[in-house]
Amino acid sequence: MKDTAVQITTHELKQQLLDCKSELKAVLQDRDDKFKRLLNFISDLSIVSKGQNFELDNKLAKLRRQLLKFEDIGNYQQDINDIERTLQTQHRQLTSSLDESRHGLMTVASQLLRVKSLPEKNKRELIHFKNEIKNPFHTVWEYLPKIELLIKHYEKVLELQFKQDSEFEIEEQHVALARELFSIIDDLEFKPEQRDKVNTIQAVLANKIDYDELLTAYHVILSLVVDNLLREKSSAQEFLTILNQTLSTVGDITSTVKVQSDKCHSIHQELNQAASNHIANVGVSLSITHDIDELKQQIRTQLSELQTVLTQKQKVELRDKQQLQHSLDSMCKELSQLTDEVSLYKDKLQEQQKLNLLDPLTQLPNRTALEEKLNIEYQKVKRQQSDLWIAVADIDHFKVINDNFGHSTGDKALQVIAKAIKSSLRDSEFVARYGGEEFVLILPDISNDNIKPLLSRVKDRIKSIPFKFKGQPITVTLSIGAAKVASGEDIDSTFNRADSALYQSKEQGRDKVIIDI
Ligand code: GH3
Ligand code: MG
Ligand code: MG
Repeated sequence: MKDTAVQITTHELKQQLLDCKSELKAVLQDRDDKFKRLLNFISDLSIVSKGQNFELDNKLAKLRRQLLKFEDIGNYQQDINDIERTLQTQHRQLTSSLDESRHGLMTVASQLLRVKSLPEKNKRELIHFKNEIKNPFHTVWEYLPKIELLIKHYEKVLELQFKQDSEFEIEEQHVALARELFSIIDDLEFKPEQRDKVNTIQAVLANKIDYDELLTAYHVILSLVVDNLLREKSSAQEFLTILNQTLSTVGDITSTVKVQSDKCHSIHQELNQAASNHIANVGVSLSITHDIDELKQQIRTQLSELQTVLTQKQKVELRDKQQLQHSLDSMCKELSQLTDEVSLYKDKLQEQQKLNLLDPLTQLPNRTALEEKLNIEYQKVKRQQSDLWIAVADIDHFKVINDNFGHSTGDKALQVIAKAIKSSLRDSEFVARYGGEEFVLILPDISNDNIKPLLSRVKDRIKSIPFKFKGQPITVTLSIGAAKVASGEDIDSTFNRADSALYQSKEQGRDKVIIDI
């Protein structure tokens, strides 16, 4: 055996050594390949985590550059340690911000659950959702789908809200409220300097408006009305203050005059007493003195004293007169100021009363004036059994004029039409602006045969006005309905019949006069 072992040739040993060497080389090559692959993997991994933290990104980029050199790992041990620390900090921050987000989601879900209109199904889902997010998230990826889910619920709520808003917004209350405000504005009196603001509001109200615009419109009109009321109140208050002042001055003067005249009265009495004493003394002297010289002397003395008393009396009377004159003068002054104020106030009241009965835009009588007039005429009808017609006229498609040419053009057209209707009537006939683009005519003493020709003339007169809006010739027409007060009928019923006749005339194509007999 020993011989066999000894027999291994040097050649064979050499061969074995060569084989080992090449095996070692292959192992080292394999190790290098694996190491490179590992470094590449680390590099790729670091790219994936890019974008989470700026500091970390920089450090990883540096590491990647070094890894590509495939140097001894000990060369960048320091960098790796550094990155490790940054990663740990990053992890802590991420965990806490995920936790915060989780609580945020929880709060939002609770708020959504409070929305009453949310369907039961969504509520159940939300409760389930809240249970699901009770445990902490470990990664951002767990968090994202939860947000998505919550957004879906939020969208549902918004959709419900929007549906409610839109139903409420344009279709019902808003349109009604806008119309109501429009007609309230027609009935209110505004000062000329407020007209621009009011016109703008009416222009806004004439279109479809949203809730905010409507609120603003109500707010502006209310503040104008309140302003007017305050002004009216303060001018009435001013007047009352002046009246009060004057009355108290007059009162003061009267009592001073009374005190003075009382005082004067007693002085006069004293003086009169003194005078009569002197005269009596003369009498006494006459009866008891027999010596004529002594008598003369006594009478002279008495007369001179009487003279003094009379002079004193004259002086007192003069002073009294002057004082009285002075008092009367200041009283007259006060009273004349008061008279001026009264007449100014009367003018104001008259102006206000006139304003209260006139429509500011067309200067036609307004609805209040119409009601008064209707009452008066109706009483006449009842007394005298006379004929009385009520006609309601409405401009056709007036909205189109506003829409196409603007509200202020519409206003001008209304003024022209109002004037034309008024001038086509006799003095005994009456027209009022009932509101918007509607007019009411009160026509007494017209026979059944004459009513239609009369109203047709009014209608044709309007039709023949050569309106030109923005250079475009436009024909404006009127629809009219009329009814006569039937015997025993109340005036409201006649009005309603006239209004129904107007409705028929619109139904039958407009630009028509329909009479309900
Ligand atoms: P119809 O033939 O059916 O009467 O149509 P219309 O357009 O005249 O009637 P609608 O009731 O639809 O509209 C009336 C319009 O009149 C709406 C409103 O803008 C307008 N209007 C009412 N008052 C005034 C006003 O004082 N000035 C202006 N410029 N327009 C007004
Ligand atoms: Mg109309
Ligand atoms: Mg109308």
